[in-house]
Amino acid sequence: MSKLIASAAIRGAQRITKEAEEMLDKALAEKGGSFSFEFPDTAYYLPMIYAMTGFPVKTLSDMKVALGMTKEMLHPEPDENLWKPYLGEALDSGMATLFSEEIIMALRYINGLEPAVDPETGYVYNGFITDTIQRNLGIQLVDGTMPGFAAVIGAAPDDDTAVKIIRELQEKNILTFLSGHTNGNSVTKQLLRKGVELGWDTRIVPLGYDTAHTLYALDWAIRASLIFGGKKPGDFKEHLKYQKDRVFALAIVLGELDDIIWSTGAGAINMGFPAICDTDVPVIHPTGVCIYEEVEKEFDHNKIVQKAIEVRGLKITVEKPPIPVAYGPAFEGERIRKEDMFIEFGGNRTPSFEWVRMREMDEIEDNKVIIVGNNWQERYEKGGQMPLGIVIDVSGRKMQKDFEPVMERKVHANINEAQGIWHMGQRDINWIRINLNAKKEGFTLEHLGVINFTMTHHRFKAIVDKVQVTIYTDKEDVLKIQEEARKSYRERDQRLAGLIDEAVDTFYSCLLCQSFAPSHVCVISPERLGLCGAFNWLDCKVAFEIDPTGGNQPIQKGELLDARYGRFTGIDEYLKKASGGAVETLNLYTIMENPMTSCGCFECIVAIIPEANGIMIVQRGHTGMTPVGMKFSTLAGSVGGGTQNPGFMGIGRNFIISNKFLAGDGGIKRIVWMTKNLKESLKEAFDQRAAEEGIPDLLDKIADETICEDSEKLLEFLTSVGHPALEMEPIL
Ligand code: SF4
Ligand code: ZN
Repeated sequence: MSKLIASAAIRGAQRITKEAEEMLDKALAEKGGSFSFEFPDTAYYLPMIYAMTGFPVKTLSDMKVALGMTKEMLHPEPDENLWKPYLGEALDSGMATLFSEEIIMALRYINGLEPAVDPETGYVYNGFITDTIQRNLGIQLVDGTMPGFAAVIGAAPDDDTAVKIIRELQEKNILTFLSGHTNGNSVTKQLLRKGVELGWDTRIVPLGYDTAHTLYALDWAIRASLIFGGKKPGDFKEHLKYQKDRVFALAIVLGELDDIIWSTGAGAINMGFPAICDTDVPVIHPTGVCIYEEVEKEFDHNKIVQKAIEVRGLKITVEKPPIPVAYGPAFEGERIRKEDMFIEFGGNRTPSFEWVRMREMDEIEDNKVIIVGNNWQERYEKGGQMPLGIVIDVSGRKMQKDFEPVMERKVHANINEAQGIWHMGQRDINWIRINLNAKKEGFTLEHLGVINFTMTHHRFKAIVDKVQVTIYTDKEDVLKIQEEARKSYRERDQRLAGLIDEAVDTFYSCLLCQSFAPSHVCVISPERLGLCGAFNWLDCKVAFEIDPTGGNQPIQKGELLDARYGRFTGIDEYLKKASGGAVETLNLYTIMENPMTSCGCFECIVAIIPEANGIMIVQRGHTGMTPVGMKFSTLAGSVGGGTQNPGFMGIGRNFIISNKFLAGDGGIKRIVWMTKNLKESLKEAFDQRAAEEGIPDLLDKIADETICEDSEKLLEFLTSVGHPALEMEPIL
């Protein structure tokens, strides 16, 4: 490491540690050592300190202990005996800085200063990133739609350059965190001035105005190895290796560097995240070991994003249809307000539908858009509502009728990913808006077709040979074809209802999450979807057709070993191989014995409540207490990482209404507590299932958070309503 930089980093670390100590002493004097603290919605205490040392900071006294470790790291001759468990070559001034910054952020929360509010603009920053958000985004990080994330620190030379850099990151679908400032200016302010929509929906997340706020991005990174990687708290070598190998993060530093940026940067570099600067930083290249070879320079702002991607080795696979507006998942979350709207279709205002239809090869022409009826150019200048029917005809040698709904479900993303175009719903209840800006950029009705043929080819290559799109705009046509579409929707639904586990010989695996949780395998059957909710059996079948060596592999069921619990020879054999020997056997229909493993991106957690002889279900995002005495975040911390945990299991939301849901344990009659959100969103299908089980009012007998959040009251309630679980055979 060059002396010059090393001394800047050490100076920064010392300064920030001193600041942390002063703040902490003040808080201790005011509130006392037993004052407890936790960041919002996390099971990992102060995540960086917890991951690196295994020490859970729960109180101000604990912070004092952690700060002691920090100071020890900075000590020229650390006391080996005292601090051995915490010390290692990787924990130097950079890591010391991150520990101190984490303590500072915790104290800022205690003092009511976080999430930070920008003193000039009043903008409220994101602050600490919750476990919920981490899990929400997990799936996108593993399936490659989100290739990585970038921390952008400081300010661009001017507002337009800031917008340019951020748009480029958005188009590449890189999640972007903003922090720090340069002479009072910051990328956040620059984007605000330019009217750019900020937040999780657009994947531009301002964390705070100080360099120290960058810590929140690193806190989110480090939780990946805790949540998905199953790495043990304290095993810092494993954590750092996981970060370097599997977490695709990088930093772009805009403007002059000060000591704090150097020392925070040293911490990020310890985690394996390179930094790209736009100033002439004094990088003296190594003669020996030099961690700062991870620092690169790029003065050209047109090239800085590309350079960053190359340095971190991100794999970017973006397909952009030939349309005059930007395109990518980062634009999916945009809203279009009425004032900004040029035209809308559907949404109960006009008849509208979208329909994917399988055709013979010679019936259609590839990459063709046909518009039947008046185009809007002939009708509207601004504002308006039009009927719209979108028929996407698909043919291909490997195309099957069963793939129609899988492709149709992607129409939402296809359309929504265009900047300035908004889509909601599906089938004949869809709703599309186009904003004025997209119209001004030259977006036409025809482009709706172009988007759909390009993306259908892209997403389903190897299945699709030809795609033709017909767009109907005259009310009579739309109504007429809509009837045909409805008939097809009904037929599909009937076919799908008959698709049960017993009816097929082949299940599928999903191995996508292995990039984060190496021993996790989702086994997906017609009646059990993946635990993230994003893959059902048909999706896997399609994915395997598209990429026979990809993450979804067929599993021959083999012989049935246990009908009640759902154990098959073929699955066991497959699992041993695919989990690298970590999982020997699996029961599909029980939570009690060798249940499915969980990676970390489950939509819901099921847990047994022995005293109630039943189980409870809580969904990701629910922050309240549950009757097992743990919140979702805490429960999730003990379920993930690719292990089997009898009595606990991560599942996809729709599994609850499957006939096979815990079928070996008694099925839905075991549910004694479930959040109101789940009860309401699943009501229709659940009531139907309950009727089939002979208890049509089961949902009313199930408690939720408005009835109780502890097991004592739960039992009272269950007794008062006569819940069937109380009469069932003991679950344990
Ligand atoms: Fe991960 Fe399972 Fe979802 Fe596949 S189906 S992405 S393995 S959670
Ligand atoms: Zn997962």
